[in-house]
Amino acid sequence: IFSDVKMGPTIEVFALTRRYNEDTCPEKVNLGVGAYRTDEGKPWVLPMVTQVERQMALDPTLNHEYLPVAGLPAFRAAACRLMLGSDNPAILENRVEGIQVQGGTGGIRLAIEFLKRNMDSKVAYVSNPTWGNHKTIASSAGLEVRQYRYWHPKELKVDFNGLVEDLKAAPEGAVIILHAVAHNPTGIDLTMSQWKEVADIMQKRKLFPLMDCAYQGFASGDLDADAEAVRYFVQRGFELFICQSFSKNFGLYNERIGNLCIVTKTPEVIPQIRSQMEIICRTIWSNPSHHGARIVATILDNPASYQEWKQQVMTMATRIKEMRKMMCSKLRQKKTPGSWNHILEQIGMFSFTGLSADQVRIMVEKYHIYMLSNGRISMAGLTTKNVDYVVDAIHDAIEA
Ligand code: PMP
Repeated sequence: IFSDVKMGPTIEVFALTRRYNEDTCPEKVNLGVGAYRTDEGKPWVLPMVTQVERQMALDPTLNHEYLPVAGLPAFRAAACRLMLGSDNPAILENRVEGIQVQGGTGGIRLAIEFLKRNMDSKVAYVSNPTWGNHKTIASSAGLEVRQYRYWHPKELKVDFNGLVEDLKAAPEGAVIILHAVAHNPTGIDLTMSQWKEVADIMQKRKLFPLMDCAYQGFASGDLDADAEAVRYFVQRGFELFICQSFSKNFGLYNERIGNLCIVTKTPEVIPQIRSQMEIICRTIWSNPSHHGARIVATILDNPASYQEWKQQVMTMATRIKEMRKMMCSKLRQKKTPGSWNHILEQIGMFSFTGLSADQVRIMVEKYHIYMLSNGRISMAGLTTKNVDYVVDAIHDAIEA
């Protein structure tokens, strides 16, 4: 009965990791996956996370009972406070709710399902380019997916005029997926004055902001500064959803921990929204897992642990920034064609190198340096040991 099942397209970033793992070349480098690595090229379990896991293992009050459908209350509240700031009027006025979800991905899927079923949303706009899964999540939920211009490939900067034009042409009620911070894949965010203009258009045109926040802390190292765009939209009075992922800033990639933060104008509508969200959760994962939520809530709720964790986020952000500087200065020293300013100007985990698909092929086939075909590299995969090798390879790929 399965013989007519067609092979689906490969998921590029997972296929790259598989090829990298199977590759026996000692110089191989994985710049594909968006996961933090130490300067030894190893995954990093944050020391604060290990400490909480040890405490959890010894805590006799913990058990493996089901969580509520909407997740662990302490986690949901702490996550919303981290996103909006604990003194945010929306929180003080009880018009904020959090739903525990399966990573950032689960939040986006839940948000879009809710909007389709309850708000009659028909169209979602994603930036061009964007994280590959945005389009597939929105279309799987039955929305028509359109793009708004974001990146100017020749000028290597944001195509803001294009973006404004596309948003102005969007139909009323369209869902606009916005990268709250550290845009993936370009590494370029809007300035605050650009965010203001976007907010003006969205308010006027009645567009719905669906903020995707997968990298809070990774852009500047400062969790509050990285929440600026989201907090600005809340301050402007938008009703909106924010999909928070704790995969990156807690290093909890495989715990699938996220929060869908809901901000409304009035507290009265929160129970209805929550109940509809719960119906969707119930039919997909029924209720979420406990481990990651407990870790995040414990750290966020304890001032001393919170301070330590903040330092550890800063450690990750700082190492990535140092790799940017190092890579840029080495490319310049080698006089590799291009200004390479964009590498320094870009923020967060990724750089959009500007390498063409053919040049990327040379990187992968000849040098065993795994990266996305659109030229995106994860800066976290660079180390002081492999940066020269990567720079030499880029030089060769460009000169080829
Ligand atoms: N949004 C963006 C922009 C991302 O880059 C990612 C992860 N690569 C996600 C959402 C999803 O995060 P998670 O792994 O927590 O589902």
